[in-house]
Amino acid sequence: KIMSFQFDPRQYIRTVPDWPVQGVQFRDITTLLEHKLGFRQTIDCYVHRYFEADIDAVVGIDARGFIIGAPIAYELRSSFVPVRKKGKLPGETVCESYELEYGSAEIEMHTDALKPGSKVILVDDLIATGGTMLAAARLIEKLGASIVEVCAIVNLPDLGGSRKLEEAGYKVFSLCEYE
Ligand code: AMP
Repeated sequence: KIMSFQFDPRQYIRTVPDWPVQGVQFRDITTLLEHKLGFRQTIDCYVHRYFEADIDAVVGIDARGFIIGAPIAYELRSSFVPVRKKGKLPGETVCESYELEYGSAEIEMHTDALKPGSKVILVDDLIATGGTMLAAARLIEKLGASIVEVCAIVNLPDLGGSRKLEEAGYKVFSLCEYE
Protein backbone atom coordinates (compact mmCIF):
# COMPACT_ATOMS: atom_id res chain seq x y z
CA LYS A 1 0.00 0.00 0.00
CA ILE A 2 1.38 3.40 -0.95
CA MET A 3 0.89 6.19 1.59
CA SER A 4 2.13 9.14 -0.40
CA PHE A 5 0.47 10.15 -3.65
CA GLN A 6 3.63 11.42 -5.31
CA PHE A 7 6.23 8.87 -4.39
CA ASP A 8 6.70 5.18 -3.60
CA PRO A 9 10.10 4.63 -1.92
CA ARG A 10 9.80 0.83 -2.23
CA GLN A 11 11.26 0.95 -5.75
CA TYR A 12 14.58 2.03 -4.17
CA ILE A 13 14.54 0.02 -0.93
CA ARG A 14 16.56 -3.21 -0.97
CA THR A 15 15.13 -6.23 0.82
CA VAL A 16 17.74 -8.54 2.32
CA PRO A 17 16.24 -11.90 3.34
CA ASP A 18 17.29 -13.58 6.60
CA TRP A 19 19.29 -10.62 7.92
CA PRO A 20 20.43 -10.07 10.65
CA VAL A 21 18.77 -13.35 11.64
CA GLN A 22 16.85 -16.12 9.91
CA GLY A 23 13.28 -15.13 9.08
CA VAL A 24 13.75 -11.34 9.06
CA GLN A 25 13.22 -9.48 5.79
CA PHE A 26 15.56 -6.52 6.31
CA ARG A 27 14.33 -3.37 4.54
CA ASP A 28 17.57 -1.64 3.67
CA ILE A 29 17.17 2.10 3.06
CA THR A 30 20.83 2.67 2.08
CA THR A 31 19.89 2.02 -1.54
CA LEU A 32 17.19 4.69 -1.26
CA LEU A 33 19.70 7.17 0.21
CA GLU A 34 22.15 6.39 -2.61
CA HIS A 35 19.55 7.25 -5.22
CA LYS A 36 19.83 11.02 -5.75
CA LEU A 37 16.20 11.63 -6.70
CA GLY A 38 14.84 8.97 -4.31
CA PHE A 39 16.63 10.56 -1.35
CA ARG A 40 15.42 14.01 -2.30
CA GLN A 41 11.81 12.90 -2.83
CA THR A 42 11.80 11.12 0.54
CA ILE A 43 12.86 14.28 2.37
CA ASP A 44 10.47 16.41 0.30
CA CYS A 45 7.46 14.27 1.27
CA TYR A 46 7.97 15.15 4.94
CA VAL A 47 8.88 18.77 4.29
CA HIS A 48 5.69 19.18 2.27
CA ARG A 49 3.60 17.45 4.93
CA TYR A 50 4.88 19.52 7.88
CA PHE A 51 5.83 22.82 6.26
CA GLU A 52 2.81 24.67 7.61
CA ALA A 53 2.64 22.79 10.93
CA ASP A 54 4.97 25.20 12.72
CA ILE A 55 7.27 22.42 13.97
CA ASP A 56 9.80 23.52 16.63
CA ALA A 57 11.96 20.40 16.50
CA VAL A 58 12.47 17.20 14.55
CA VAL A 59 13.46 14.40 16.95
CA GLY A 60 15.45 11.68 15.16
CA ILE A 61 16.19 8.19 16.51
CA ASP A 62 19.73 6.75 16.53
CA ALA A 63 20.98 6.08 13.85
CA ARG A 64 18.92 5.99 10.65
CA GLY A 65 16.45 8.53 12.07
CA PHE A 66 19.36 11.01 12.06
CA ILE A 67 19.96 10.59 8.34
CA ILE A 68 16.47 11.66 7.33
CA GLY A 69 15.60 13.76 10.40
CA ALA A 70 18.42 16.29 9.95
CA PRO A 71 17.61 17.34 6.36
CA ILE A 72 13.89 17.52 7.22
CA ALA A 73 14.68 19.81 10.17
CA TYR A 74 16.94 21.95 8.01
CA GLU A 75 14.23 22.44 5.40
CA LEU A 76 11.54 23.10 8.03
CA ARG A 77 13.80 25.71 9.69
CA SER A 78 13.35 23.80 12.94
CA SER A 79 15.85 22.36 15.38
CA PHE A 80 17.09 18.80 15.25
CA VAL A 81 17.23 16.74 18.46
CA PRO A 82 18.91 13.32 18.59
CA VAL A 83 17.60 10.40 20.64
CA ARG A 84 20.68 8.30 21.32
CA LYS A 85 21.58 4.88 22.58
CA LYS A 86 22.52 5.02 26.26
CA GLY A 87 25.89 6.48 27.21
CA LYS A 88 26.52 8.73 24.19
CA LEU A 89 25.11 12.08 25.34
CA PRO A 90 27.39 14.21 27.57
CA GLY A 91 24.78 16.36 29.36
CA GLU A 92 22.00 15.57 31.80
CA THR A 93 19.58 13.10 30.20
CA VAL A 94 16.20 11.45 30.50
CA CYS A 95 16.23 7.72 29.83
CA GLU A 96 13.73 5.04 28.74
CA SER A 97 14.16 1.31 28.36
CA TYR A 98 12.26 -0.93 25.99
CA GLU A 99 12.07 -4.61 25.17
CA LEU A 100 13.93 -6.18 22.28
CA GLU A 101 13.51 -9.71 20.97
CA TYR A 102 16.36 -10.73 23.27
CA GLY A 103 16.70 -8.54 26.36
CA SER A 104 16.21 -4.79 26.48
CA ALA A 105 17.75 -1.53 25.31
CA GLU A 106 17.93 2.02 26.64
CA ILE A 107 17.74 5.34 24.83
CA GLU A 108 18.36 8.87 26.05
CA MET A 109 17.73 12.50 25.21
CA HIS A 110 19.21 15.65 26.73
CA THR A 111 16.91 17.06 29.41
CA ASP A 112 17.22 20.60 28.03
CA ALA A 113 16.77 19.60 24.36
CA LEU A 114 13.05 20.45 24.13
CA LYS A 115 11.04 23.25 25.70
CA PRO A 116 7.75 22.32 27.41
CA GLY A 117 4.89 22.93 24.99
CA SER A 118 7.06 22.85 21.88
CA LYS A 119 5.70 21.06 18.80
CA VAL A 120 7.77 18.16 17.48
CA ILE A 121 7.72 15.32 15.00
CA LEU A 122 9.47 12.04 15.80
CA VAL A 123 11.33 10.34 12.94
CA ASP A 124 12.88 6.92 12.31
CA ASP A 125 13.45 4.82 9.21
CA LEU A 126 11.05 1.99 10.07
CA ILE A 127 8.29 0.95 12.48
CA ALA A 128 8.26 -2.77 13.32
CA THR A 129 6.99 -3.63 16.83
CA GLY A 130 6.92 0.08 17.65
CA GLY A 131 8.96 -0.39 20.83
CA THR A 132 11.68 2.04 19.77
CA MET A 133 9.24 4.77 18.69
CA LEU A 134 7.14 4.37 21.82
CA ALA A 135 10.17 4.69 24.11
CA ALA A 136 11.33 7.79 22.19
CA ALA A 137 7.82 9.24 22.43
CA ARG A 138 7.89 8.74 26.20
CA LEU A 139 11.18 10.69 26.37
CA ILE A 140 9.55 13.59 24.53
CA GLU A 141 6.53 13.46 26.88
CA LYS A 142 8.86 13.57 29.90
CA LEU A 143 10.14 16.94 28.68
CA GLY A 144 6.58 18.22 28.22
CA ALA A 145 6.78 18.69 24.45
CA SER A 146 3.86 17.81 22.21
CA ILE A 147 4.15 15.23 19.39
CA VAL A 148 2.37 16.30 16.22
CA GLU A 149 3.02 12.95 14.51
CA VAL A 150 5.43 10.02 14.58
CA CYS A 151 6.75 9.16 11.15
CA ALA A 152 8.88 6.64 9.32
CA ILE A 153 9.73 5.75 5.74
CA VAL A 154 8.52 2.16 6.17
CA ASN A 155 5.74 0.70 8.29
CA LEU A 156 5.38 -3.04 8.91
CA PRO A 157 1.75 -3.10 10.09
CA ASP A 158 1.67 -6.87 10.63
CA LEU A 159 4.12 -6.46 13.50
CA GLY A 160 1.59 -4.28 15.31
CA GLY A 161 3.78 -1.26 16.05
CA SER A 162 1.70 1.37 14.27
CA ARG A 163 -1.47 0.09 15.95
CA LYS A 164 0.23 0.18 19.35
CA LEU A 165 1.37 3.76 18.72
CA GLU A 166 -2.12 4.80 17.63
CA GLU A 167 -3.63 3.15 20.70
CA ALA A 168 -1.21 5.20 22.78
CA GLY A 169 -2.71 8.31 21.17
CA TYR A 170 -0.13 9.15 18.50
CA LYS A 171 -0.76 9.96 14.89
CA VAL A 172 1.39 7.73 12.67
CA PHE A 173 2.61 8.51 9.16
CA SER A 174 4.70 6.39 6.81
CA LEU A 175 5.58 6.64 3.13
CA CYS A 176 4.99 2.94 2.45
CA GLU A 177 4.14 -0.42 3.99
CA TYR A 178 5.21 -4.04 3.53
CA GLU A 179 3.06 -7.01 4.52
P1 AMP B 1 10.80 -1.71 16.49
O1 AMP B 1 11.25 -1.07 17.77
O2 AMP B 1 10.49 -3.17 16.64
O3 AMP B 1 9.66 -0.93 15.85
O4 AMP B 1 12.01 -1.68 15.49
C1 AMP B 1 12.34 -0.53 14.83
C2 AMP B 1 13.82 -0.35 14.71
O5 AMP B 1 14.49 -1.55 14.32
C3 AMP B 1 14.11 0.68 13.66
O6 AMP B 1 15.10 1.57 14.16
C4 AMP B 1 14.62 -0.10 12.46
O7 AMP B 1 15.77 0.50 11.94
C5 AMP B 1 14.95 -1.50 12.98
N1 AMP B 1 14.26 -2.57 12.24
C6 AMP B 1 13.36 -3.46 12.77
N2 AMP B 1 12.93 -4.33 11.86
C7 AMP B 1 13.52 -4.00 10.69
C8 AMP B 1 13.47 -4.53 9.33
N3 AMP B 1 12.69 -5.57 8.99
N4 AMP B 1 14.20 -3.92 8.39
C9 AMP B 1 14.99 -2.85 8.70
N5 AMP B 1 15.09 -2.33 9.95
C10 AMP B 1 14.38 -2.88 10.94
